[in-house]
Amino acid sequence: MDLPIAFRLLVAVFCIVAPSLLFVGFVRVLDRMRDDDLVNRVLERVDEQPSGAPGPAAVLTGGAVDGSKSNLVTCSNCGLPNAGYAGYCGNCLAALDG
Ligand SMILES: [Zn+2]
Repeated sequence: MDLPIAFRLLVAVFCIVAPSLLFVGFVRVLDRMRDDDLVNRVLERVDEQPSGAPGPAAVLTGGAVDGSKSNLVTCSNCGLPNAGYAGYCGNCLAALDG
């Protein structure tokens, strides 16, 4: 009679305390994952601009991140600024010399 009551109390205490401990452990695991070296390396790779190749941000935005207008070629026919790699104007389809 005494043992089942102690057992029930143990189960009750476990059911009360265990979720809190699991939550704290879960948060600590997430903190450890956030401070992981791999995450830092990935964040550094996103920020850095490798020599020659455009970074991920430049690829996603079509190279408009740096805001450099040196690679724009103005169409001699209609005056529309086109990308430097374009062979023909996007507006009037005139051949671009640049
Ligand atoms: Zn044009």
